[in-house]
Amino acid sequence: MKGKLKYEGKGKALYTTETDGELIQVFKDDATAFDGKKHDVIAEKGELNCAISSWFFEKLQEAGINTHYVKREGSVEMRIKELEMMPVEVVVRNVAAGSICRRLGLEEGMVLERPLTELFYKDDALGDPMINTEHCELFGWAKADDIRAMRQLARDVNRILSDLLENVGIRLIDFKLEFGLLDGEIVLGDEVTPDGCRLWDIETGRKLDKDVFRQDLGGLSEVYHEVANRLGINI
Ligand code: UDP
Repeated sequence: MKGKLKYEGKGKALYTTETDGELIQVFKDDATAFDGKKHDVIAEKGELNCAISSWFFEKLQEAGINTHYVKREGSVEMRIKELEMMPVEVVVRNVAAGSICRRLGLEEGMVLERPLTELFYKDDALGDPMINTEHCELFGWAKADDIRAMRQLARDVNRILSDLLENVGIRLIDFKLEFGLLDGEIVLGDEVTPDGCRLWDIETGRKLDKDVFRQDLGGLSEVYHEVANRLGINI
C-alpha cells in the first residue's frame, strides 16, 4: 500500500509503504530532456517504463545481480528495497553517441573496442558533470572500493542486457545505472528503461529510445511499445 510521498523526480516518485525498508516507485508519464528544458506528458509512458524496468530487473536478478526490485505492484508501481543512494551515475558505452561525441569529437556510431564506463555527479543544477573515482573519494560521494564494484556490476549488466536485446534485433549502444548501499552491499537501484538507454535497431539503425523525444523523431510511446513487444513483455 502506498503511503506518504518521500521524493519526487522528473520521471518517478517514491512513496513509503507499510513495510519498513520498502518503498513504492511510481513511474510518471512525464518526459524531460536537456535538464528539464524540454518537457511533455506522454500517455502510457509510465506503464511502459514500469513494465520494461520490472522485466529487466527480473532478468538481472535471475542472472545473479543484486537489485532493489521486489515486485511489480501495479500498472505504474514497483515495490523496491530502500537503498542509501550514491549521487553518482555510471554510464556504460558500447558505441559512441551523445555526450561522448560532443566531448571527444567522436562520430556517432563508432564501435568502441571494449565497453567503456564513465562516472557522472548527479546534480541537475550543475548539469551532471563528469567525474572520476578521486572526486568520489575526496568529496565523500562513494568509496573507491564501491566505485570498483559498481563499474564491475555495470559491465556485468551490460553483458546481460546486450544479449537479451540482441536476441530481438536491438543493439545496446549505452545506458546509465544508479547504485545504492543496503547493509554495506552495493545494490542496483533506480530503473532500467529506454529513458536511460540508447537502443538502435540492428538492421536499420532506427532509434528506439528517448532520443526519439530529444530529437523529435516521432511518437515515443510507439517505439517503447515496440521494444516491449519485441522482448515479449505484456503491458
Ligand atoms: N542518461 C540518463 N540520465 C542522465 C544522463 C544520461 O539516463 O542524466 C543516459 C542516456 O539516456 C544515455 C546514456 O545515459 O543512454 C549516456 O548519456 P550521455 O552521457 O551520452 O548524455 P546525453 O547525450 O543523454 O546528454
